[in-house]
Amino acid sequence: MATINAQRDDNKSLFSIPYGLYLVTSSLKGKLNGLIVNTVTQITNTPNRVAVTINKANYSHRIIKETGILNVNCLTTETPFSIFKNFGFQSGVDKDKFEGISYSLSENGLPVLNDYVNTFISLKVTDYVDFDTHGMFICEITDSGIINDKETVTYGYYQKNIKPKPEEKKSKGYVCKICGYVYEGEELPEDFICPWCKHPASDFEKR
Ligand code: FE
Repeated sequence: MATINAQRDDNKSLFSIPYGLYLVTSSLKGKLNGLIVNTVTQITNTPNRVAVTINKANYSHRIIKETGILNVNCLTTETPFSIFKNFGFQSGVDKDKFEGISYSLSENGLPVLNDYVNTFISLKVTDYVDFDTHGMFICEITDSGIINDKETVTYGYYQKNIKPKPEEKKSKGYVCKICGYVYEGEELPEDFICPWCKHPASDFEKR
């Protein structure tokens, strides 16, 4: 029996699983919030059930745990980097991420962007699975609609065509492979967490 000729690397192997990128919106006490995730998955179809997994370090996790509702905005390939930056690389705790953003509200009172979205899905949480660092919200659909037929952006498309290329600087440091954040320093602490995307030190590479 022949052995498989392959380079063993669990982290790299996982990059071969494609994902879409989604803006998940929520609201607490009248304040709107949103974050970018790649972890939206349909898990069953009779009934339709969707899982959305969110890092507990994100404010949105706390809001959705408390309110039990969220909107998934399926982003298109036309989404500019500024949208990813606004919703993905800063916290909504002390910032209004919807300031200057054009949006409408769906029936559950949560925002749907007026641009860069091809489909919205309003969800109600029915179950919650605690994964230590992350929480998985199992949801039923309360409303949904197709806005246009533009293509949903995949994580691969984002990496190739939307994320700015790292500057060809000779300075020392480590760059986050996920979002492009640069840590400037000789040594990257082992327990370092990316301030933008919350990924661990293992997702950084020396530049
Ligand atoms: Fe990052």
